[in-house]
Amino acid sequence: MILHLKTTATEAQAKQVAAATSSVLFHDSTRHVLVTPSKLKSAPTQFESLIDSAFVMDNDLQLGSRNYIDHTRSVKVGSVEIGGNTNNTILIAGPCSVESEEQIRESATFMKSLGVTALRGGCYKPRTSPYSFQGLGLEGLKLLSKMRDEFGFSIVSEVRDATHVDDVIEHADVIQIGAKSMYDHGILRACAKTNKTVLIKRGFGTTLQEFAQAAEFVLSGGNQNVVLCERGIRTFETKTRFTLDLCGVAWLKEYTNLPIILDPSHALGYRYGISDLSKACVAMGIDGLLVEVHPNPEVAKSDAAQQLHHDEFTQLIQAIKPVAAAVGRTIV
Ligand code: PEP
Ligand code: MN
Repeated sequence: MILHLKTTATEAQAKQVAAATSSVLFHDSTRHVLVTPSKLKSAPTQFESLIDSAFVMDNDLQLGSRNYIDHTRSVKVGSVEIGGNTNNTILIAGPCSVESEEQIRESATFMKSLGVTALRGGCYKPRTSPYSFQGLGLEGLKLLSKMRDEFGFSIVSEVRDATHVDDVIEHADVIQIGAKSMYDHGILRACAKTNKTVLIKRGFGTTLQEFAQAAEFVLSGGNQNVVLCERGIRTFETKTRFTLDLCGVAWLKEYTNLPIILDPSHALGYRYGISDLSKACVAMGIDGLLVEVHPNPEVAKSDAAQQLHHDEFTQLIQAIKPVAAAVGRTIV
């Protein structure tokens, strides 16, 4: 159950209700909000005078549920709004990893020429092998910051453990929590303490309920700026890297109130079908599309097989625009 306390309720009173109901308590800038375990279906009567409204919930998808907010929340990606009253589908594009100043500058120059506003690039890479390129770390973040200052991008970059969160907050506009990190409570709780937008990627063995509950850690910690990203789940299929779960996207749209971004690059794992998949993603009326693009993918230090060449990305944008228009969306 979600309880909105009256604006006159004091911090001490809010803490008292929270203790009595085993709730998570946060302040959403106008009022104290308490989230009780979902099995609680009515508030203790002695606190009735403090409560403005109560939302009874079926399960622990609570703050992110359509039963709480019946539309997609508005969230900012840098200066661009997605969700809310907008029909925006934001393009987030760039290389898998920031590799050098030369590489990220070439990416940035190209993205700018296409009107892309959100540049991505990982600096703390969650690699499967300790012998693979691990990312440039803080040096990479500084390069992204430089691109933001020179070109006016908003920057999307990932955290690999909670010790990186402060650096990523300082240099990026959107903190990406990767598929392998979305169960990391240190990261989730650290991201809850900032107001920066947090992009949570679905773990490849994660149910939709678990995915939604990862978002609850950030929301109930007080940060309401959360977007969900489907990037493929592991199935029996081995011809593709993962399986993009569009049924899951339909579920997320129906039952959650968070903007949804799709990442066909990590799902397929190969360049050849990314444009077709992107059309399918955009046709679902999503809030954003994340695509990996590299100036010279053949020599990329991570995810070389899936990153698009620049000319392929130019064609992808031309391919998705009419699809977006057909479903009442604008690519921004
Ligand atoms: C990435 O975006 O480069 C990445 C590592 O993604 P994921 O966490 O989805 O594997
Ligand atoms: Mn990648």
